[in-house]
Amino acid sequence: MKDDSVGLVIFDCDGVLVDSEPLAMQALLETLSEAGLTLAPDLGYERFLGRSLATITAVLSDEYGVDLTHEALDRMRHRLYELFRRDLKPIQGIHNVLDALPVPYCVASSSQPERIRLALELTDLGGRFGPHVFSASMVSRGKPAPDLFLHAAREMAVEAGRCLVVEDSPAGVEAAKRGGMRVCAFVGGSHAKRESHRRTLEALAPDHIIEDMRRLPQLVGGNRPN
Ligand SMILES: [Mg+2]
Repeated sequence: MKDDSVGLVIFDCDGVLVDSEPLAMQALLETLSEAGLTLAPDLGYERFLGRSLATITAVLSDEYGVDLTHEALDRMRHRLYELFRRDLKPIQGIHNVLDALPVPYCVASSSQPERIRLALELTDLGGRFGPHVFSASMVSRGKPAPDLFLHAAREMAVEAGRCLVVEDSPAGVEAAKRGGMRVCAFVGGSHAKRESHRRTLEALAPDHIIEDMRRLPQLVGGNRPN
């Protein structure tokens, strides 16, 4: 009989391991404001949550006519790293959850490797993941394409059907499903409290939706839902 038990948990980083999305949105909106574009946070989340910087800059250019210069992007990065150093917190319970997981796990994030590393180090999560950190910069198409999750599964030598992805963004949930993976939508991040966000995720029919990360280990031990 085919083994379809969970053999690998693939974590998104922002909004899943670390509570970074409000900080990232603040850095982005301040940078856009300097470039002459005022955007409401709700619209920012709707358009940019879970997307790579390449995708974000492309949308800004194509749809808003805003081309962020290298200097502006540099300023945004420094602004974000300052906010990270000052305010970044891990998602509540995540250390205990990682302790309790009975299978290997890795990170697959739309962010650049440097930013992922900093976020994990500042929250004492870096040592837990070691080299098992995968960034959208390693594949040509970012989420919602499944490429990054499939790359992570290949590198971790676990077939897609045995992977469980934990994601907070619609783009990430879609990417997991397109990759033939199970997906758990996490709505416990500071940015994910809005009812509209939850409804958007529900419409994508993830296998599970959890508000409390501490529920994850029991999902990994359980069977594929109907
Ligand atoms: Mg995320």
